[in-house]
Amino acid sequence: MYSYQDSEDRVPVLQMNSELEHAQLELLSAHCATHQLRLHYSADFLARFARRDILHKSAEAASALHEFYSTIKNKITPSDPGPSPEPSQPTNVPIAQAIHCVSTYLRQQREYYLPAALPLSNQHKARMWPYFSPALLDQVRVVELQGQRVPPPPFYAEARALGFDQLPEITHMESLTFLDVVVFNETITERSLFHALVHSVQFQMLGVERYTELFVQSFMKSKTHFTVPLEAHAFSLVSKFLRPSPERFSVEDHVRQWIGDGRY
Ligand SMILES: [Zn+2]
Repeated sequence: MYSYQDSEDRVPVLQMNSELEHAQLELLSAHCATHQLRLHYSADFLARFARRDILHKSAEAASALHEFYSTIKNKITPSDPGPSPEPSQPTNVPIAQAIHCVSTYLRQQREYYLPAALPLSNQHKARMWPYFSPALLDQVRVVELQGQRVPPPPFYAEARALGFDQLPEITHMESLTFLDVVVFNETITERSLFHALVHSVQFQMLGVERYTELFVQSFMKSKTHFTVPLEAHAFSLVSKFLRPSPERFSVEDHVRQWIGDGRY
């Protein structure tokens, strides 16, 4: 096996691997986007109605990439394990990929559902205003799927193959929060709306990248959805809200406190 550890090639090799890693993340993002397309439209529908120029360019790009990577793969002898990953970060690459994939998914889902989403009703705003700022209540948009359900994310199959068999059961959840767009698998209840709005506040205060990073990191440690602090906090604030004689409190203040204390 070729060793680069103490050769002069070490720097170019490190540089090359970092560029390869970057390319791989971009490919993963393209993979996610294509999978979304596949979930939403049949091949027949795409063949009939897709713009020919874009379709041709996409197919050409995919073929060219396939050809390029296959050529390299064919040069590898089966017995050569290749250079080992940098010892300092054996798990960083999969986590970075997972974070990238999840945050891309969240943004795409937001864009997908936004055109069909509606502002909160005055009745819901009135019920939620003691706990959330008027700015947030004005900004949030909601969709009620009424019978349909948000399909599982495209990267679930890969995640399961990696051993994550306790992934959040998205089709069984009451609602999903995609930044400021909340999609309800069932009809809106005060409890499910409150829960979703807590996530919206978390997204707003942390930003989608940091939210995803915290979620994925803690999910990878605990492997269960309910023990992720971002979730646990939403559940505990909902039970505070549902107390028989609830006191007013600001969800924004609570989330700010948890961020400040590093509890997420
Ligand atoms: Zn939740």
